[in-house]
Amino acid sequence: MIADADDWRSRDLAVLWHPCTQMREHYLDSGPDTLPLVPIERGDGAWLVGRDGRRYLDAVSSWWTNLFGHAEPRIGAAIAKQAGRLEQVILAGFSHQPAVELAERLLAIAPREAGRAALSKVFYADNGSAGVEVALKMAFHWFRNRGEPRRTKFIALENGYHGETLGALAVGDVPLYRRVYAPLLAECLFAPSPDAYLAAPGQSPAQCAQRAADALQALLERHGGEVCALILEPLVQCAGGMRMHDPLYLRRVRELCDAHGVLLIADEIAVGFGRTGSLFACEQAPPARQGGLPGIQPDLLCLSKGLTGGFLPLAAVLATQAIYDGFLDDSRERAFLHSHSYTGNPLACAAALASLAIFESDQVLAHNRATAGRMAALAAPLAAHRHVADLRQAGMVVAFELTRDGDRRTPFDPALRVGLRAYRAALERGVVLRPLGDILYWMPPYCVDEAQLQLLAEVTRAAIDEATGCV
Ligand SMILES: *Cc1c(COP(=O)(O)O)cnc(C)c1O
Repeated sequence: MIADADDWRSRDLAVLWHPCTQMREHYLDSGPDTLPLVPIERGDGAWLVGRDGRRYLDAVSSWWTNLFGHAEPRIGAAIAKQAGRLEQVILAGFSHQPAVELAERLLAIAPREAGRAALSKVFYADNGSAGVEVALKMAFHWFRNRGEPRRTKFIALENGYHGETLGALAVGDVPLYRRVYAPLLAECLFAPSPDAYLAAPGQSPAQCAQRAADALQALLERHGGEVCALILEPLVQCAGGMRMHDPLYLRRVRELCDAHGVLLIADEIAVGFGRTGSLFACEQAPPARQGGLPGIQPDLLCLSKGLTGGFLPLAAVLATQAIYDGFLDDSRERAFLHSHSYTGNPLACAAALASLAIFESDQVLAHNRATAGRMAALAAPLAAHRHVADLRQAGMVVAFELTRDGDRRTPFDPALRVGLRAYRAALERGVVLRPLGDILYWMPPYCVDEAQLQLLAEVTRAAIDEATGCV
């Protein structure tokens, strides 16, 4: 028996505390801060279907996790099959087929760079933040094991985001999430973001990236010997507002980390698995020299979110053989004693294997390139809107800023909640457009079709008109 939506809403609010939410906004019936609560009954491809039967286009892929649509039958079947065989087993001292096969597959498709030893070991965790913790702890511990205990610091980028646990939060720089907890966080050195939105007038994205890399170089020259690792989100700072940078920056960072003996951690938790046009964003770094090959290879690669196609929580940290070897010893203290109860869960690994199989059978990357082209064409007219600034795109991610005058300089007063107004306006029209502040973006499941993209474009325009018309 399906309760009606209102009844469900009160049952929910009686017992649930929702993530990343000022719960009071759910109790308001009107005003700029009102946040609707939408009970969902089921998913169907790019659609979410409400308990009242209303359909919503999931234009944010359910927090960037979903790849091929909701309830994708092949992934569902793989999980069901695995559940009938082995649902979970301790991964310390034990092994199982999905964990081994998935590690083999991930290492085979991971970013590669000529002249650099490939990523060759996989450590599992059970969500993105936990994966980031693993990478940070590994980097720090590796240098200790090598007899370099002075390397205790991390470098991260301004406006970066790496998750919510205290270690991940310490290397993040989105004030809304970080500021309150700052007294609890380990010290981190922040380098300027290469974000092309911050380019000075007349400066190209490549020049902006060069300038940020020069600042990073200066930081490394001062502190290089105290730093164990640099962590960044390649190509798109997602939670920081889908801010994008020139891929040249990735090449410069790789070279600077090498020059200073600092490990490079690529956090591809959000951008991995085809979001930005290539399987991994690191692949888009330009060649080091003319005639060279594109793409950089990090020392540690963090994957999660789309790893299971969006079905189950799982993270994987890929490491080089050199990092792995640094922990091989007679001493247990020199081992990486990190674990999570559900490390390498068989169901999640089976989902990830099914998801990777779809990349091959459905030629997903080629399909995404065509879809990205349609997204570009449908988004282009929005750039002329008087309240839209900086329409930008990286593959299946399109984003733009809502501003007072359509230029880059004058944001709306945050108290107006323009982004939230746009969210409600889009929701009423059957589209989930969950803005980051006043930044709207499209990051739909890869199965999104032409009619759905047209609906997305129409509703986005209507939502912007409504959100900005009353301020
Ligand atoms: C979402 C995200 C994380 C954290 O992953 P969770 O599974 O939410 O803990 C880390 N890094 C990036 C880049 C992310 O987008």
